Amino acid sequence: MSEKYFATGQCLCGNVKFTIASAPLRMGQCHCDDCRKSTGTGHASNAFFNRKDINIEGELSRYASTTDSGSVVSRFFCPNCGSRLFAENNAAANIIGVSAGVLDDSSWFKANAIVYNKRKPQWDFMDTSIPTFEEMPPAAVQK
Ligand SMILES: [Zn+2]
Ligand SMILES: [Zn+2]
Repeated sequence: MSEKYFATGQCLCGNVKFTIASAPLRMGQCHCDDCRKSTGTGHASNAFFNRKDINIEGELSRYASTTDSGSVVSRFFCPNCGSRLFAENNAAANIIGVSAGVLDDSSWFKANAIVYNKRKPQWDFMDTSIPTFEEMPPAAVQK
């Protein structure tokens, strides 16, 4: 019972729990309209993992929206408490984005990039040492 995971997390009510077996591939913060609306604040903070390395227990609801590049992002949330936990892009189906705020310990989180900076509200303050892009840089979409 004392398996070691890279990270664990859960939603606000605890109906959805997950474990992650390995370190993130990359981490990012996004200020796009969809991320602001879905999180209810100035940006989304996501750590991206190989889909096979995460184990999720509990029921999720899904909402899909189309990105500027035409791919479809599905955002997954707890139907009971509304916590927004995961995101998947159909252009990279083997990758899952995990919301940093639902991790039990997110002290390791540090964004590699900040994207859609042109949509950043003036009240949302970011670490200026992190590479920042006005939109989605082409390289970031590749994965
Ligand atoms: Zn919940
Ligand atoms: Zn976004």
